[in-house]
Amino acid sequence: MTLDVAWALRWTRLTAQEIARSKAELTELDRQIGDGDHGENLNRGFQAVLAKLDTVDPPEQIGDVLKLVATTLMSSVGGAAGPLYGTAYLRAAKVTGLAELDPHGVVALLEGALEGITARGKASPGEKTMVDAWHPAVDAAEAAAGQGAGTTQVLAAAVAAAREGAEATIPLVATKGRASYLGERSAGHQDPGATSTALILAAALAAVETADPVAATPDE
Ligand code: ADP
Ligand code: MG
Repeated sequence: MTLDVAWALRWTRLTAQEIARSKAELTELDRQIGDGDHGENLNRGFQAVLAKLDTVDPPEQIGDVLKLVATTLMSSVGGAAGPLYGTAYLRAAKVTGLAELDPHGVVALLEGALEGITARGKASPGEKTMVDAWHPAVDAAEAAAGQGAGTTQVLAAAVAAAREGAEATIPLVATKGRASYLGERSAGHQDPGATSTALILAAALAAVETADPVAATPDE
């Protein structure tokens, strides 16, 4: 399956759709350990991305799509998540120049996102943040690519690991971000940012699977 600029656009549109659908759920998670705005924040950001896509010349490269998402999220999403996801997409755009992603290109994109988030937020795994979804996702993608998996399987491995990572934040005590203000009381709740990360990665996989069936070729 080809991961090209059309895929990146489908991914972006599906992400916006999924975040809109999950807005209330994300906000409720953030209400439990934060200030109850994560769903609203991300939805505002991705709706702004959709609006932006309607006004610009069609992006020619995957990296152009990622940069557009990055700059739009940075300027339209307040709170922690805007700069964090903005930097994630900006660093993910290190794949700029690749017209298509092979399995190692997928790993590079995901690695770039994680690098951006840790550069910006300085969180390590286990601090109950979105890093707890991104970190295992990158590890799983690397392992899959190393074993010769195709692009779809690499993304599927990342999605499964991100979902598990998000669920595994439930017992954790937050030591970064707003949830850390709650101390021990942050335990027992799933981190909103780790949850939205799993949604974003699931949209990347869905964007492969929803490719035009006429144009689709069997996965390598
Ligand atoms: P805010 O906390 O400013 O209201 P959001 O509610 O939009 O922002 O986002 C909260 C999410 O941001 C958390 O669930 C967590 O995953 C993530 N987050 C917060 N601080 C950090 C950090 N330093 N590093 C990584 N992720 C973080
Ligand atoms: Mg919040």
